[in-house]
Amino acid sequence: MRIVFIGPPGAGKGTQSVRLAKHLNVPPLSTGAMLRDATAKGTELGIESAKFMKQGKLVPDKLVEQILFQRLDDPDCAEGCIIDGFPRTVPQAEALDQWLAERRSPLEIVLELYVPFEELQRRLAGRGRADDSQEVVKKRLRAYDDLTRPLLDYYQGRSKLHRIDGLGSPDEVFGRMLAAIKSVEPIQG
Ligand code: ADP
Repeated sequence: MRIVFIGPPGAGKGTQSVRLAKHLNVPPLSTGAMLRDATAKGTELGIESAKFMKQGKLVPDKLVEQILFQRLDDPDCAEGCIIDGFPRTVPQAEALDQWLAERRSPLEIVLELYVPFEELQRRLAGRGRADDSQEVVKKRLRAYDDLTRPLLDYYQGRSKLHRIDGLGSPDEVFGRMLAAIKSVEPIQG
C-alpha cells in the first residue's frame, strides 16, 4: 500500500509511521530523515538543504523531489511505502501524483495526524533536536499552517484524506490508523 502521512511537527508522525511500516512490511520514507542523512554525509544536496532546514524553512521542491523519487525507485518500494514529510506543498503533491501515475501506482490513502496547536507547542518544547529551538519551532508550525494545510483540501477533493485524532496513547493513535487503512481497498498497479 502507498500511504502518505501528513501532520505538523510534534504530532508523533515519525514514531507512528515507522510502526505502521513494520506492521505492513513496507519501508518508511521520511524526507526529513533523508535530508538530515544527506547533510551528515556532506553530499552537495545535503549541504544545500541544510541552509534551509537550519532556519526552519522548507527545502526547495526540486531538491526534496530528487531525493525522494530516487528512493521510491528502489525495489523495496515496489509493494508500497509510507511517506512521511512529503508532500508539504500542493506543487509537491502534484509532482508526486504525476510521478506515481507514470508508474501506474497511485496513492491509496492519505492519513492526517491531527493535534491541536497548544499541545504541539508543549510537545516540541521538550524534544531538543537541532531545529527544535523555540523560534525555529514557531516558524515550522507557521510553515505547516501556510503551506501544508492547503494540501488537506487537495487530498480531500480526491477522496483520499482520513483524519486521525493524534491525542491519546501511542497505541490508541495506532489503532485509529489501522482502522482507517482497513477501510480502503488496495489499488492493483
Ligand atoms: P518536522 O515534521 O518535525 O518538521 P521533518 O523531519 O519532517 O520534521 O522535517 C525537518 C525539516 O526538513 C523541515 O523543517 C524542512 O526544512 C525539511 N523538509 C522535510 N521534508 C520536506 C519537504 N517535503 N519539503 C521541503 N522541506 C522538507
